[in-house]
Parts: sequence; C-alpha cells; structure tokens
Amino acid sequence: MTEQTTVKSSAQLRKEWLEHRFFRYRGCAPHPDDPMRMAGDPSLHVGAHHGPDAFAPEGQKERRTREEKAIEVCLNCPVMVACDRYASSVDGDGKLAEPDGVWGGRRSLERHKALIRQRVAAVAAPDRQFQTAQKQAVLRALAGCWDPFEVAAAAGVDVRTANWQRSSLVRLLGLPKGVSRMRALAAARERGLLEGLDVVADDGTVPAVPPPTKTTVPAEPTQLGLWGGQAVAKAPVARRRRRSVRRRARVRARVAAPVPTLDDALNAPQPAPGLARVIPLFPANRRLEAAV
Ligand code: SF4
Repeated sequence: MTEQTTVKSSAQLRKEWLEHRFFRYRGCAPHPDDPMRMAGDPSLHVGAHHGPDAFAPEGQKERRTREEKAIEVCLNCPVMVACDRYASSVDGDGKLAEPDGVWGGRRSLERHKALIRQRVAAVAAPDRQFQTAQKQAVLRALAGCWDPFEVAAAAGVDVRTANWQRSSLVRLLGLPKGVSRMRALAAARERGLLEGLDVVADDGTVPAVPPPTKTTVPAEPTQLGLWGGQAVAKAPVARRRRRSVRRRARVRARVAAPVPTLDDALNAPQPAPGLARVIPLFPANRRLEAAV
C-alpha cells in the first residue's frame, strides 16, 4: 500500500473539521437542554476548553483541573483527529491555527512544544546528516518493513546498528522517542527523504525504534530455606550439587588410598609421596617392644 502525504492549509483542515459528518456530536458542543453546559460533560461550562475570560482569572490548580476534564471530553469526541489536525496546523504567518486552549485533546503548551520541536529539527538537522549510506539504507528498509531483523537484513547491517540508526533518524527528525513508524516515515517524507519510495503501511501502532532487547542469562534455580524463622535464599541448587559431587569424589579417593601405618613409615627408605619424613624419636621403646 502506498502512503501519500499532502500538506494541507489550515483553512482546508478547518473546513474538513467543520464538515465532518460527526461534527454536530462533538464533545464541546452546547448541551441540548442547557446551552451553557457542555454536551460531552454537562458538569462543565460550555467554554471549559478555553477557560474564563480575562476578567475571571483562575489559579494554576483550577486551570489544570479544568484542562484535564476538557481533555477527557476530547478523548471521547468523534472528531478529535480532525480537530487536532486543524488546531495544530500552521498558518501562513507561521503561527498555530488555534494557539490557545485545549483542542483535539492537547493543551496549548503541548501543541506549541510540538511545533517548536519540528522547527528545531528542521534547523538542527540539515539534509546532509541524513545522507550517510547507512542511514539511507536503514530508512529505505524501514519504509518496506518494520520487524527489526527484516529491517537489518534489508539494510545490510546487523540488528544493533540498524536500531541505533533508527534512533538517530528519529532524533534528527525532531520526533519524540516513542514515535510510531508511520509518523516517523511521514516526517521523513515531508523532508523529501523518501523520494520515489513506497511505504508499506502498518496499523499505526508500530514503534519507529523497537524496545531494547536484553540478553537474558537463564537464571539458575534457587531454593528457599528457613533460617531463624525467616525465609532466606540459599545458593543456587545446581552449584551446590556440583560442589557436593566434588566433595564426595575427594572423600572416596581418600578412603580408597592405603593408609600408611607408623611401622611402614619408620621402615620406609624414602618417605612416601605426600608424607613428611618420619623421624624415630624413641628408638629405646622400639627395642623394648622387640624384646617382648
Ligand atoms: S476534540 Fe475538538 S471538537 Fe472535540 S471536544 Fe475537543 S475541542 Fe471540541
């Protein structure tokens, strides 16, 4: 499937939003029974998305509570996507189409931050930074598939390098870390980096950079023992077994070896290997024994 990215003006996006077939069911519409209340949440004033006017200032805590409730209404609104696209679009004068209030589930500050990120990325990452052979190979591979191994194979690099280049591309495009693959590819297309390439679309939930893969070492089985009434972890079972096997082998070797008697040691011309030389300290006693 080929994804076509066309840049629409704020006026076109506003028209799309106003002409959406579910526009009349939007959450911030006036309630049918009370035009001063909001249809999506009758406990809210109809203007809760934009706050009180200049003559009724509100504290930071009240503002945050109001905005959270307004965002809750947006999240259940059937035209949220169209609303966000319009409100976050940029006018001819370079400003947001809707600079104030909550629109499309996002606060004014969030939409401004996103706009600044886009501009910083456009300035900070000139096209030549995308022109390395490896980055281009990974970007082209990412347009065709999204599995980390397939992307690495298509780009002709190992998985670790492919993932590193994917992170680098996301950063250079000025996108947040957890951005989806489709969003990253749309940003790359806007920068003219996917000229003549078909993008194989996913469902929009595939991350542009896969989560880091940890090399897991299989844990040795442990056993719990009671020590002073408390459960304590003992050393791994496999290691204890190995140790006990070694000890048993040592004991068996000791039992099997002939134990030299004192007389053997005294009469031996050379001390037995591993034994110190025995010096007869009481030769008189030995003579007495011989006499008996
Ligand atoms: S998404 Fe837009 S139209 Fe829907 S409730 Fe929020 S501000 Fe209103």
